[in-house]
Amino acid sequence: MKRIALLGATGSIGRQALEILRDHPELELVAASSGSQPIDGLAPLTQVGGDLTELLERAEPDLVLNAVVGFAGLPATLWALERGVDLALANKESLVAAGELALAAQRRGGGRLLPVDSEHSAAFQCLEGRAQETVHALVLTASGGPFRGFSREELEHVTPAQALAHPTWSMGPKITIDSATLANKGLELIEAHFLFGLPYERIEVVVHPTSVVHAVVRFRDGAALAHLGFPDMRVPISFALTYPERAATPVEQLDLVGLTLEFEAPDLDAFPLLALGRRAGELGGTYPCAFNAANEVAVTAFLEERLPFLGIPALVEETLAAVGGAPARDLDDLVEADREARRLAERSVVPA
Ligand code: NAD
Ligand code: MG
Repeated sequence: MKRIALLGATGSIGRQALEILRDHPELELVAASSGSQPIDGLAPLTQVGGDLTELLERAEPDLVLNAVVGFAGLPATLWALERGVDLALANKESLVAAGELALAAQRRGGGRLLPVDSEHSAAFQCLEGRAQETVHALVLTASGGPFRGFSREELEHVTPAQALAHPTWSMGPKITIDSATLANKGLELIEAHFLFGLPYERIEVVVHPTSVVHAVVRFRDGAALAHLGFPDMRVPISFALTYPERAATPVEQLDLVGLTLEFEAPDLDAFPLLALGRRAGELGGTYPCAFNAANEVAVTAFLEERLPFLGIPALVEETLAAVGGAPARDLDDLVEADREARRLAERSVVPA
């Protein structure tokens, strides 16, 4: 039996995780949380809002699936890593904001950090068992979102409803907007840097509209290993929950006959958040935390129609220019950097 704590059980990842858990009696759901929706009876221990580390202390899980959205997932990520409890991580924002602290906590704790993000799960599988010096580069694929091919002019008046209509993945609202702006791929670059110990210049991004190839690892001998599959999050969720067994899922096998794979370069002018994410990652310290915080403020304001679509990258750029980057020594430094970036970003949007 593996004792599972599921944080963010009512979300897109959370609900798909529950579906996987139903097929696996050996995975015992001991605790579940949600941000605001009632979840009585879902698990022996449940919690709505509040400090998730209190729930984790009581639950004593063997594995935490962190499927909370945003910076709010950070204490739970650090809790699991520090204690050597295996962490299946969907909440990329916590690793982006606190990468160095998270890795230091993992080194002390000694547990596993299993990515749930599809590209990172794919890369993890291509990299498993390879010596670091044989790896030349990692390629993350991006669907390009609903506005692939749009010019800046065409992006000026797009609405939240248009941005929420993702072509390949069905996900929560925040990551769906991040996919439309390419902020998601900016976050994922930083996530990959910390997960796989690769410098930013050896992490590439390519647009691949059908999301069949999730990641490619290039090796020094010229070989490239790709991970293919239908865009279905139940595969990486199941991989992380059942690692290292790779249990069966109800997902269909890919039909290769008639399959064509297309790739194109990302448009960094129309979608500046990809390059801004890369720059924040390279600057390091509290910059990735500020990038994430400003983006969270901008996405919320866009969804509430207080900010136009192109206001999202503008706000993040402005905020990154205004914050003083500092080393991130502890959780307090990050909480302060997050608060400061939010305060600066909020000044430039119409109040809620
Ligand atoms: P979602 O909005 O559908 O669900 C978020 C969950 O977190 C909900 O259960 C919600 O109640 C809870 N929550 C929200 N705010 C909270 C707070 N302040 N404190 C505690 N709980 C809170 O989001 P999602 O699409 O399931 O995404 C979850 C995470 O997984 C995100 O970090 C996202 O980037 C990542 N992710 C999602 C997908 C996907 O397919 N949905 C793919 C890759 C990565
Ligand atoms: Mg992803």
